[in-house]
Amino acid sequence: MVVVMAPNATAEDVARVVERVESAGGKANVSQGVSRTIIGLVGDIDAFHGLNLRALAGVADVHRISDPYKLVSRQHHPDRSTVWVGQGAARVPIGPATFTLLAGPCAVETPEQTLEAATMAKAAGATILRGGAFKPRTSPYAFQGLGADGLEILATVGAELGLPVVTEVVDARDADLVAEHADMLQIGTRNAQNFGLLQAAGDTGKPVLLKRGFSSTIEEWLLAAEYIAQRGNLDVVLCERGIRTFEPATRNTLDIAAVPVVQAASHLPIIVDPSHAAGRKDLVVPLSRAAIAVGADGVIVDVHPHPETALCDGPQALLGTELRALAQAARQLPPLVGRMPAAAGNVTN
Ligand code: PEP
Ligand code: MN
Repeated sequence: MVVVMAPNATAEDVARVVERVESAGGKANVSQGVSRTIIGLVGDIDAFHGLNLRALAGVADVHRISDPYKLVSRQHHPDRSTVWVGQGAARVPIGPATFTLLAGPCAVETPEQTLEAATMAKAAGATILRGGAFKPRTSPYAFQGLGADGLEILATVGAELGLPVVTEVVDARDADLVAEHADMLQIGTRNAQNFGLLQAAGDTGKPVLLKRGFSSTIEEWLLAAEYIAQRGNLDVVLCERGIRTFEPATRNTLDIAAVPVVQAASHLPIIVDPSHAAGRKDLVVPLSRAAIAVGADGVIVDVHPHPETALCDGPQALLGTELRALAQAARQLPPLVGRMPAAAGNVTN
């Protein structure tokens, strides 16, 4: 941490800072420039935060140099991590050696729709099935999901097709119920800084898919992940799903640069959700290609057998031509960036 003194700071002001730092067990290295004095602090950064140095007379600024997150940082764990989702033979890795495709309906609507969507997803190479049972809708009048019944449907379909399942938890009180049915818990963009929910998800011990808050900086996002990690759960996968900007052409602006930025800062795997970023099916394949090229550890997409009647996010759901193009990209592109490809099969509908 570095304290920058104001140009008019007095020797007493500097002495007061040094005294405060030393009283907290730290060391203060004073460097006197021509017009400014800078004080470098060595010791327990978190203790220095409690000193409120910025409030002292003559202090112009205080800069933190090390990252505020610890457990999720590459300083703590230099090698990039792999998170395993599912049980036994159906375990699927998300990490630096592979490219993982996660796909499924935005929302679980009926057993038939979920099975059809899951079959499409598997044929396209998806090895993890997504599907919302508890839906975090902006409007309270919109379809809220089937809740516990939806969890049952998703788990049944996942088991039938041999696919681990990921589904969102929107309320800390449901964390255990969701964990009983799902292989991975999703925290959505609207709850990305719901710290009690993050802790409850962490406590289940299940892998957590943490979406980026649509107004979160990367640092805030990694601090949200730190809340989960602090509960002793380092099985966290980050998901860039677009942020809110001034641009209305897409639903959100996919921050593709976030992928390598996060990978430099954190050991956690990171995937991309081009469906919720774009909100339009015609952009999902190009953005998926970009995600693979930039080094994402996977992509999560919405598929639906009948997007025109979907109860949630129909305009961004893939099928047919687009799904075939996605399967092709997931099979062909990862090896070009040194990864095992998704296990693609035949897309028939
Ligand atoms: C979702 O994946 O179903 C979803 C609601 O995503 P997000 O939280 O990114 O909007
Ligand atoms: Mn959705």
